[in-house]
Amino acid sequence: MLLPSTTEIQFLSHQILQEKKVELGILRLDKIHNQVSGNKFFKLKYNLKEAKRLGKKTILTFGGAYSNHIYATAAAAKLAGLNSIGIIRGDGFDENNPTLSYGRNQGMNLHFVDREKYRAKTSKQFLEELKGIFGDFYLIPEGGTNHFAIQGTKEILTSSTHESTHICTSVGTGGTFVGLATSIRSGQELLGFSSLKGEFIRDEIQALLKEFEINPQGKIELITQYHFGGYAKWKPELIEFLHWFHSEFGIAIDPVYTGKMAYGIWELFKKDYFPPNSKILMIHTGGLQGNLGFVQRTGIAIPLG
Ligand SMILES: *Cc1c(COP(=O)(O)O)cnc(C)c1O
Repeated sequence: MLLPSTTEIQFLSHQILQEKKVELGILRLDKIHNQVSGNKFFKLKYNLKEAKRLGKKTILTFGGAYSNHIYATAAAAKLAGLNSIGIIRGDGFDENNPTLSYGRNQGMNLHFVDREKYRAKTSKQFLEELKGIFGDFYLIPEGGTNHFAIQGTKEILTSSTHESTHICTSVGTGGTFVGLATSIRSGQELLGFSSLKGEFIRDEIQALLKEFEINPQGKIELITQYHFGGYAKWKPELIEFLHWFHSEFGIAIDPVYTGKMAYGIWELFKKDYFPPNSKILMIHTGGLQGNLGFVQRTGIAIPLG
């Protein structure tokens, strides 16, 4: 079904790391699978298993027109021999953009709804309506965060990450962050860089920790100031940083999630956030499929990876 490639920690070398006497490694989850890349691999793994266990034939999920989750779900469902339905938010975008074309090619049945309708995506009435249209399905929520996603993202940290003092990830719904929070060790600090504007994410994380009864062994911290205006928003400094990072290390990152995290980490270096001898691990959660759509939508060139 979903078989991972081996991932490795790639250690980066840069003058600022020497200066601050810290080590920086990047966990290349972007390389874990050709199609189901990054954290989405872990979020989908046990959901697919559960769908199969329940004897479901079809996965239904929600997402935006450029969503990594939609892209990964379409591919993962196909690999698992399941049908997939993607309920796509909003209008005014190109229905043949690279993400949606890919999904369609993987056999995903795309269904477009306006924003108002989309907002009701968790309501019983809307779900009943969808059952009326599509028949029985296994539901994966927007962003893919649920019990089985947490079970999967728990597996991101392994014995190879025990040495790290700081573990950094980008945060959308927070599912990956709380999965990591489940498996950090005492003495480790988990840093989540929110890609959305606002402090609400703190409450969301608290609610997820409570819901899944997670008591982190180490310290957890949310960083909320590197959102660049909000979800999928960007500023020229961020674009410049994506180019700089790629030319410096030969690694592509994305403007929605990993770019904001990496930018934030570099800012924290400047602020001496990390004490000397810190061993920092930055998780590359993937998401590079969206870069092509970004270029087409904005006309701004960024490294594609
Ligand atoms: C979806 C995604 C995230 C956010 O994951 P959550 O579990 O929703 O917080 C982070 N990085 C990338 C590249 C993603 O695609």
